[in-house]
Amino acid sequence: MAATFLTSSKSPASTLSKMPVDLSILFIKGVFKTWDLILRAFHPLHLFSKFVLHLPTSLFAREDKTRIVIVGASFAGLEAAQHLAAHGEHIEVTLIDEKEYFEFTPGIFRCFINPHHISDLTCAVDASLGRMVRGRVKDVEDGQARTAQGPSSLPAQDQHARLVSSSSVIIVGGGMAGAELAAEIISAFPSKSVTVIHAHESMCKELPAAAKAYVEQWLRKRGVKLMLHRRVMEFDEHRCVLEGGEVLEADSVYLLCSGMSPRSDAVARNAQPGQVKVQGRINVFAAGDVMMQDDCDEVKSGYLAERNAKIAACNILHHMHGEQLLSYPEDVFGDVSMIPEVYCLSLSKYDGVLAFNNLVVTGRIPAVFKWLIEANSAAAAAPPPPPPPELTLFHVFNWFLMRGMLACKAYCHINGIMSVFASNHLIKPNEALKIHSK
Ligand SMILES: Cc1cc2nc3c(=O)[nH]c(=O)nc-3n(C[C@H](O)[C@H](O)[C@H](O)COP(=O)(O)OP(=O)(O)OC[C@H]3O[C@@H](n4cnc5c(N)ncnc54)[C@H](O)[C@@H]3O)c2cc1C
Repeated sequence: MAATFLTSSKSPASTLSKMPVDLSILFIKGVFKTWDLILRAFHPLHLFSKFVLHLPTSLFAREDKTRIVIVGASFAGLEAAQHLAAHGEHIEVTLIDEKEYFEFTPGIFRCFINPHHISDLTCAVDASLGRMVRGRVKDVEDGQARTAQGPSSLPAQDQHARLVSSSSVIIVGGGMAGAELAAEIISAFPSKSVTVIHAHESMCKELPAAAKAYVEQWLRKRGVKLMLHRRVMEFDEHRCVLEGGEVLEADSVYLLCSGMSPRSDAVARNAQPGQVKVQGRINVFAAGDVMMQDDCDEVKSGYLAERNAKIAACNILHHMHGEQLLSYPEDVFGDVSMIPEVYCLSLSKYDGVLAFNNLVVTGRIPAVFKWLIEANSAAAAAPPPPPPPELTLFHVFNWFLMRGMLACKAYCHINGIMSVFASNHLIKPNEALKIHSK
């Protein structure tokens, strides 16, 4: 059954109407910060009780462990590591990443406008998940991964300086990343000339029609020039040549939005149909953006990276125990057609589009929701406290307080389960709903 909630057109946001978003973010930030302070206040006591009163647990560690290397400590890598830590016995996980921190990539464009925002998007990788090695993996073979030292710079900070000094910007690619970048630039610098060149007839082709229309209308209303159905043939940092020979010039040309291609040079790209297992490899598994399947062309996202990483982690354990491997997407969603399409696109700090299958919510709620996902993802990836050293009231109370951050992890798991349930039973991929939040 399809239900429709009509949207109402909205004039440019006044300062007053932005207040609910600011207040919500302030409130959520306050809760996170307060909790962080409580953790810090109690943590030294905990460390004291652990190391002074008790022998280090590593003295009792088993030596005969199966060693697992995870390349990439992001959505997929951390989800797999968390699953292995929770369910795998006698395994030793090594995480390799060229960055030593987790970064919530979907929020990265706001750092182009405000480089300090990076501290809200990043956190140290939880060392309890495994040994963290910083480096770039050059090659993966059954049984080993070769690394080289990798860079650790934050490109967003360089992009900020470039953007500030540009009065005109061309963004090549009108997908979700292109739309978000254009929205961030035009809302922070309304006087800059922003042009988006896109090869398709409409922006953000993955989104439901109502969401696409909202994005285009939002950008046009603020003066962003959309050149749709135009193909860029050549480009450099200041110039684009379009099909037909038209030449466009700007102070900055951003080409990072012309589609995502996973960096899979270190591993084989083709997974076996229906299985998250890299073709031709005995014990190499793939998940996230890097995972390719012939019969499943899901749009890559952080949400799906976590879902298929969980299957990959299960399959590692099944492989270790000689059990039948699980299939993706069948063993998660039941069927390819039931893979939920989940998008949360921000149009500046105060507006956005949330799409769950064909349910579309636009306006303030998605803006706050995106911020909540951002804060929650960084908190969920952060290191949890160690377990209580003994079952006294003090230790359990202390541990319970520190485990509060795990509410974020729990939320991520519940969110995963709920979204699968909702896609299968409540808002199926072919149902159309539209809500506008002021
Ligand atoms: C601008 C932008 C906006 C986005 N918005 C959204 C959104 O709103 N919602 C959503 O769900 N998704 C969004 N996505 C997509 C989402 O970020 C990705 O699908 C998700 O990050 C995939 O997770 P992953 O773990 O597979 O890979 P990644 O997050 O790309 O992580 C790969 C990790 O591996 C490391 N790595 C890569 N190669 C090597 C190597 N050779 N050696 C060592 N380490 C290596 C990298 O440093 C990185 O930490 C967006 C993506 C971008 C770029």
